[in-house]
Amino acid sequence: MNSVNTNGRKFFDIDDRLTELAEQTEREIKPAFERIEHNAFINQQKVLAAFINNGVGENCFTSSTGYGYGDAGRDKLERVFADAMDCEDALLRHNFMCGTHALTVALFGVLRPGDTMLCITGMPYDTIQSVIGISKSPASGSLKDFGIRFEKTDLLPDGSVDIESAMNSLRSDSSVRMVYIQRSRGYSLRPSLTVEQIDDICRAVRSVRPDVIIMVDNCYGEFVQLTEPCAHGADLIAGSLIKNPGGGIAPTGGYIAGRSDLVEICSYRLSTPGTGREVGCTLGHSREMYMGLFSAPHVVGEALKTAAFCAGLFSRLGYGVTPLPNENRADIIQSVMLRDSESLIAFCQGIQSGSPVDSMALPEPWDMPGYDSKIIMASGSFTLGSSIELSADAPLREPYAVWMQGGLNYAAGKTCILIAAQRMLDKGLLDALK
Ligand SMILES: *Cc1c(COP(=O)(O)O)cnc(C)c1O
Repeated sequence: MNSVNTNGRKFFDIDDRLTELAEQTEREIKPAFERIEHNAFINQQKVLAAFINNGVGENCFTSSTGYGYGDAGRDKLERVFADAMDCEDALLRHNFMCGTHALTVALFGVLRPGDTMLCITGMPYDTIQSVIGISKSPASGSLKDFGIRFEKTDLLPDGSVDIESAMNSLRSDSSVRMVYIQRSRGYSLRPSLTVEQIDDICRAVRSVRPDVIIMVDNCYGEFVQLTEPCAHGADLIAGSLIKNPGGGIAPTGGYIAGRSDLVEICSYRLSTPGTGREVGCTLGHSREMYMGLFSAPHVVGEALKTAAFCAGLFSRLGYGVTPLPNENRADIIQSVMLRDSESLIAFCQGIQSGSPVDSMALPEPWDMPGYDSKIIMASGSFTLGSSIELSADAPLREPYAVWMQGGLNYAAGKTCILIAAQRMLDKGLLDALK
């Protein structure tokens, strides 16, 4: 037994063979690290330039209450964020309760009765299905209840968008008002979409229907590549501030960004058709939101390094991983095929025990409402449910894959993953080290 890099001091018992595999892994993933650091450097400059060009000052951090009229710090933050997201305009508010809420406001903001929303990345993320009205919850006020139709085209077997069948749907159904794209894999095993692929999709869509609104669920994708979907033809994006763009500092919130006419009508759905974005007090959250946005490119880089390390270590231990250690990434999610439920449970319990908060909790699989198999979740985060902080989730079913994401800093992320591997070893589950 040895410790992780502690100069003689032992903080965690990690098997020498795992420490050795970790060193090999870090040599192997050098190309990934170079790319991640390069992107973080460029994106950090982009964000810094946005702060400077918009003249962010200490006076932006003042708190407003009540209606929040004339909160200049709030309005300026939205300008800064729009620049960082390659967009004309943005709404960035703590009043968005989560990413699903921001996506919901955007969908209800721009769609009208009789319109069709066409999702071309297969079935959308679980929580969006209730918003659309796919899942059965009668009269919940879903898009369906308001006469907005939903269509989808499935992904091809390799996980890419079936452009041909998407274009056929667009041609044959003139009620399609919105083409909806989910950038991240969510909790599926398909690859996430790169902005280059989004570019190709947007060109194809425009060639058939120049007027259609292209909206991207941008969750987990922010600052992973050098540009964002609106630089590639998307009209509207939305996401969560307890993921990438909050930098692990924003305590809650979400955003909608894109074409200014669309952002404006979304602002009427966020508050009221009369008041729009003029209302919305900041209650003292502005400073944290500025700080989080400023740190986000770096923090996303740390999360990506943690993901690449996890991929490298677990592929050396003989597990299937996606993406591969040195593969180009388009979001911060890493899946590892752990092959059986004991391994999933040991991995998630290990992640929990290596977290800075709630390390003493022992996660167990449970019957989560809306899922047909048991789910186990590990999250020891400063912000409840934050998944830019290291967290892992797994449904206990074939192919026994865990989805891991986040990591505010690589040193802690790497340590936590070694602790998870050690827990699997202690339980006799690592065949490669038997
Ligand atoms: C996380 C996520 C959402 C929803 O965000 P919440 O903040 O959990 O509501 C939507 N789509 C995708 C792809 C996500 O990863």
